[in-house]
Amino acid sequence: MEKQILVTRSSMPEFEEYIEEIRPVFESRWLSNMGKKHMTLIEELKQYLGVEKLDLFTNGHMALELSLDALNLSGEIITTPFTFISTTHAIVRNGLTPVFCDIDPLTCTIDADQIESLITEKTSAIMPVHVYGNVCDVEKIEAIAKKHNLKVIYDAAHAFGVTYKGKGIGNFGDVSCYSFHATKVFHTIEGGAAVYHDDEVGKRLWMLKDFGIQDEETIDLVGPNAKMNEFCAAMGLCNLRHVDGEIAKRKKAAERYRKNLSGITGLRLNCVQKDVNTNSAYFPVFFDPAVFGSDRNEVQAELKEHGIFARKYFYPCVNACGAYRKSYDPDDTPVAQEYSRQVLTLPMFADLTEEEVDRISEVILSCRK
Ligand SMILES: *Cc1c(COP(=O)(O)O)cnc(C)c1O
Repeated sequence: MEKQILVTRSSMPEFEEYIEEIRPVFESRWLSNMGKKHMTLIEELKQYLGVEKLDLFTNGHMALELSLDALNLSGEIITTPFTFISTTHAIVRNGLTPVFCDIDPLTCTIDADQIESLITEKTSAIMPVHVYGNVCDVEKIEAIAKKHNLKVIYDAAHAFGVTYKGKGIGNFGDVSCYSFHATKVFHTIEGGAAVYHDDEVGKRLWMLKDFGIQDEETIDLVGPNAKMNEFCAAMGLCNLRHVDGEIAKRKKAAERYRKNLSGITGLRLNCVQKDVNTNSAYFPVFFDPAVFGSDRNEVQAELKEHGIFARKYFYPCVNACGAYRKSYDPDDTPVAQEYSRQVLTLPMFADLTEEEVDRISEVILSCRK
C-alpha cells in the first residue's frame, strides 16, 4: 500500500520549542483573557503582516462575525458564493442579508464589474474573499465603496502573508479577517484575527469578543466569548518564527505541480497575478470533462484509489447549500456554479515532497481520455 497523502498537513514547531513557549504560562497561571502571549502575538503579527491595528479571536469565523457587528451594518451585504460557508454564515448570523455576486473567471474572487448592478438602497457593505490567496480587485472595490458609501470587509482567511504591490493585503478595506485554523498557512491551532483601521471599530471588537464588557461595571454591548487563549497564542508565536520557510516550501511544491500539469488541455491551473506575492495556500485545478475526458469526480475517485485525498473546495457553492438554496438560485451566479463543479484542490502543505507531487500528477494525467 502506497503512503497516504492527505489534502493538508498542519505545520508544527519542534515540541521543545512549544514547551518553552508555554512554560511561563504554566508558571503564571494566566491562561486566557488577553495575557502576555496574546499581547505579544498581536505585536508580532502587526509587524509580519505590515499593518497597524489588529485584534485576535478564537477563530476566523468569530473575527468575521464580530467585524460585521463592530461596523454597525444593516440590510444587504454584497458577497461571493464561491467561498467557505463561514463567510455567508457570518452575514446571516448578524441579521443581515447576503446578496450573491458572481466571480471573476480568472481569479475566482468577486467580479468587481458586477457589484454595482447589485447595489440597492439597502446595501451597507461589500464582503469579498481573497479565495486561494488570490487577491480581489481591491482598487475597483475601493472605488465602488467610496462612490456608494459602503463598508468593505475582506475575508482574508486564505491570504496570510500575501502582499499586493508590496503592501500587506490586510491594509485594504475597512476590516480584513484572517483564519488561524490548524489547516491554514499560519495557525494558532484554532484562531483568527481582524485587521482594522478605525480606533472606534477596534474598541468595539475588543469589547465584543469579551461579552461586550468595557470594564467591571460597564457592559454596554452584547457580545459572545471569542477571546484567544494563551496556549493558542503561544503556538502562534512559535509558528510565526517558521512561517517564511513554510511558505517557501509550499511555493516549491506549487512550482512542481505547475511544471507537471501546465499546458494540459481541459485542465486549468490557478491564475498567477501580477504585483502579487502569493502564499501558495492551496493548489486548485479545474477540469473541463468535455476536453479532459474525465470529470472532477472521476479524478478525485482515481486519486483516492491511490491513497491521495484531494478536496472539492468549494462544492457546493454557498447559494446551492441546504441552508441557502431555498432563498437563492445558484444559476444566478453561473461562473461560481460551474467552477464548483470543476474544482479539485490537490494536496498542498509545506512538507509535501517533489516525489509526492509527481505521484499525484501522474495519477491525474492517467485520467486523460
Ligand atoms: C477557514 C475559513 C474561514 C473560517 O475560519 P475558522 O478559523 O475556521 O473559523 C472563513 N472563511 C474562509 C474563506 C476560510 O477558508
